[in-house]
Amino acid sequence: PYQHVTVPEGETIRFRDGRLLVPHNPVIPFIEGDGTGPDIWRAAVRVLDAAVNKAYAGRRRIAWMEVYAGEKAFNMGLGWLPAETLQAFDAFRVGIKGPLTTPVGGGIRSLNVALRQELDLFVCLRPVRYFEGVPSPVKKPRDVDIVLFRENTEDIYAGIEWAAGSREAKQVIDFLRQRMHVTKIPWPDSSGIGIKPVSREGSERLIRAAIQYAIDYKRRSVTLVHKGNIMKFTEGAFKQWGYELAAREFREQVVTARESWILAAGDEFPDSDHARISRMIDPGYDMMTAEQQKAVRDEVAATLDTLMETHGRGRWRDKIMIKDTIADIALQQVLTRASEFDVIATLNLNGDYLSDALAAQVGGIGIAPGANINYQTGHAIFEATHGTAPKYANLDKVNPGSMILSGALMLEHLGWKEAAGMIVQALEKTISQNRVTYDFARLMDGAILLKCSEFATAMIENM
Ligand code: NAD
Repeated sequence: PYQHVTVPEGETIRFRDGRLLVPHNPVIPFIEGDGTGPDIWRAAVRVLDAAVNKAYAGRRRIAWMEVYAGEKAFNMGLGWLPAETLQAFDAFRVGIKGPLTTPVGGGIRSLNVALRQELDLFVCLRPVRYFEGVPSPVKKPRDVDIVLFRENTEDIYAGIEWAAGSREAKQVIDFLRQRMHVTKIPWPDSSGIGIKPVSREGSERLIRAAIQYAIDYKRRSVTLVHKGNIMKFTEGAFKQWGYELAAREFREQVVTARESWILAAGDEFPDSDHARISRMIDPGYDMMTAEQQKAVRDEVAATLDTLMETHGRGRWRDKIMIKDTIADIALQQVLTRASEFDVIATLNLNGDYLSDALAAQVGGIGIAPGANINYQTGHAIFEATHGTAPKYANLDKVNPGSMILSGALMLEHLGWKEAAGMIVQALEKTISQNRVTYDFARLMDGAILLKCSEFATAMIENM
């Protein structure tokens, strides 16, 4: 069914009962990417193959299948994103890509956005951790070990917007003013308009994936990051739906921050009455109406009764804590007390800011891996998170770390944890030997400067 793609010998990854079925020789489509993409892809694929070969003594092997997108596809006369590339990622389920040039103008969507939308890859996964020896701008980069789940399909990011002065913007503004009686648009004639949809389904599937990840990887907490104090019905609802989902679907495994206050008070003062505990968890208790006070006391009673039973005295401390933080405060706290964050679940735009800020904190974009995943179908595309860095193209110079770690993330998604672990260890070891590419070398004392390909070779030596 493919015109330009050659399907190699190998088997197809399948998905059944919520799980990937991975053969020993899976066909995996890859896009090498534009600019420095081919450099880092060539380096990364050697590292991935070496790790798989070594971890499974030659019994497993990836059958790589090149598919085309971006400039390479365009230059082959296939357009920026050929239909068969999408078809391949769909059929083979798991793939990997280098950075792609975003075509400027001409009504072409960002290729990355198109791939995400076509396969409904609703989670943008960004694990961020520190590697010893990497130059970092902060004092305690070691405290950062955060896995970010960014919602990938909704929010103001969805691209529903109209330019100031356009007929469409005018129509929307007229509707808002005349039909919805909105008076808060100070300059209606010159306002651009963007729409921010946030749904229960979209929020729940993202948060569900984050909590499930926290359970699978034995993480301590999931923080819902939102701006619900201002945007109540989108960001605030995200938080609310998240807490409700956690209690409904993961009751045995989680405790919410508020429940933990009640349970802690219950542990500490087992004989105290509910009013006393209510006062401890809600400092404004005495100012509340009688009705509000009763609601708090009922909540305290219910939490103590039911959760003490499922979670047991003291044992609730071992459960995964579900908490929330306002986005602006989160951006401060990831800097000042990073160790309080573990798994983060957040909306699209917050996640965009937060993932880049976190990546910078541990030494920048050269080694930050990422993935776009649909946990309901197993579809996933792993990718270097940086762009094409075109001025370094074909110089065999840039850091392949991001691509390599994205590959490791992919191996983990396949359940090939041994190979993934081997790659992470090899990267740690290579950097600790001061053997690094130019981006790190220029910030380090006594660095041994390696080319992109040499870094891959050093990693393979270190496996
Ligand atoms: P960029 O990430 O390509 O480059 C910014 C700078 O970061 C580079 O000049 C370089 O100094 C550094 N850098 C990036 N990758 C590096 C690496 N592996 N090792 C060492 N240093 C590295 O961002 P840009 O210049 O804004 O974008 C260039 C092109 O990439 C644009 O067309 C943009 O649309 C596209 N882009 C693609 C993706 C993607 O495919 N996921 C993401 C971002 C940007």
